[in-house]
Amino acid sequence: MSKLAPAEVQERLLPKLGAKQGEELYSGAMFLTEKSGGSDVGANLTRAEQVEGDKYVLNGEKWFCSNVNADVIMALARTGPIKEGTRGLSLFLVEKTLPNGDRNSMDIVRLKDKLGVRSMATGEVLFDDTVGQRLGEEGEGFKLMARMINISRNYNSVAALAANRRAIIEAWQYLNHRRTFGKQATKHALIREKFYELGAQYLANFLLVWRGLQAMDASENGDESERDLLRIITPMAKWCSAEHAVYAVRECMELMGGNGYIEDFVMPKLLRDVNVLPIWEGSGNIIVLDMLRAARKSDGLKLIFKHIADTAATSEEYGSLLNKQLSEVKSVWQLIGEMEDRDQVEATAKPLFKKLITLFQITLLIREKKDSSSDRFDTALSYLTGTFSNSLRTRTPPSLDNIEELIGWDY
Ligand SMILES: Cc1cc2nc3c(=O)[nH]c(=O)nc-3n(C[C@H](O)[C@H](O)[C@H](O)COP(=O)(O)OP(=O)(O)OC[C@H]3O[C@@H](n4cnc5c(N)ncnc54)[C@H](O)[C@@H]3O)c2cc1C
Repeated sequence: MSKLAPAEVQERLLPKLGAKQGEELYSGAMFLTEKSGGSDVGANLTRAEQVEGDKYVLNGEKWFCSNVNADVIMALARTGPIKEGTRGLSLFLVEKTLPNGDRNSMDIVRLKDKLGVRSMATGEVLFDDTVGQRLGEEGEGFKLMARMINISRNYNSVAALAANRRAIIEAWQYLNHRRTFGKQATKHALIREKFYELGAQYLANFLLVWRGLQAMDASENGDESERDLLRIITPMAKWCSAEHAVYAVRECMELMGGNGYIEDFVMPKLLRDVNVLPIWEGSGNIIVLDMLRAARKSDGLKLIFKHIADTAATSEEYGSLLNKQLSEVKSVWQLIGEMEDRDQVEATAKPLFKKLITLFQITLLIREKKDSSSDRFDTALSYLTGTFSNSLRTRTPPSLDNIEELIGWDY
């Protein structure tokens, strides 16, 4: 809104959206999804008819509207002559209350009965001659929406980290006070092994998400190469942080035994809430396709390749592993470039991106380790690099101190 809305609208709404007092605060929402298209917004049917200048009226049904009672809504609708797909979409700002104090014309048809995130209402909304202000030009809606979604995908990643960490800390605390078979539960090897995995993955995801936020900051200040990096890190981080958060919460629920399943404890709520993170803001497969688009249309992938190669060149310990895995990724990426069958491209790209994410996370851990006296980065590196080996080997679980450092409070 601060980039596209007319000055009068910005002056009226931005202070309210940023207000610090609850009674003055306006909240926002994005109504994009329709019955015909969530992933495929190009199938959307809602239409907007021009009244005058950038003022329109919108008619149609939005199918998933979170924070449904929002004061300010961004919505997509079709404008102008019928055009297929995303080309016919424009972006609109819809206010719940019009500047003259009248209520804008729209109905909440139904509230969704959701598995989780129940403290925030999601509804189905009918636009019925609803007044909307066009932002940007006609037909630019999809492009502008993508910009907006890239920001909210990063918020999603931060939410995923938070749920992931909460689950680990809850389970760790619980088991530190639980005795089984005559000893503190966290002293059992298999429990330490599980925290080793969960803690290492969390730390790797944390560094990936934070690298994305650094890139967001730098690109907002005009750094072009960070913009390219952000373009590809955003879906990478969204995908793996959300997937791991769901996995971690489920594992931590089990780690807490029967009590993990009981509503007196926090795990059931966490499990219900966390499951939305891989679905909204683009579900897993859609995110993979977005990574593919980002890899082809920006220099992001090349920058990631370079980052991995540069780190490999300076790491005695992990250099050869990184080089070997990177060269495999590069040769498969080249094959993808030569493929004519789209199905083959998509099926080949998914495992490639999975491996690429782990490699990039390893390089972030190596770089972070240089500036730190903590051994948590070594512990996480030993776990992540171990995932490349399929063969059985003898194992000694990390010590209690190692695990405590890995999931330490101060990080
Ligand atoms: C609690 C909740 C709140 C929400 N809030 C909002 C909101 O505020 N605003 C909003 O606009 N939307 C919202 N959504 C909608 C959400 O963004 C969509 O549900 C999501 O994008 C998926 O769209 P869909 O439901 O139409 O699934 P579909 O598009 O029908 O997809 C079904 C499955 O098919 C997969 N799929 C689809 N196309 C492909 C493909 N080409 N290749 C491979 N796999 C594919 C998807 O990954 C998915 O797993 C919300 C959803 C939920 C659950």
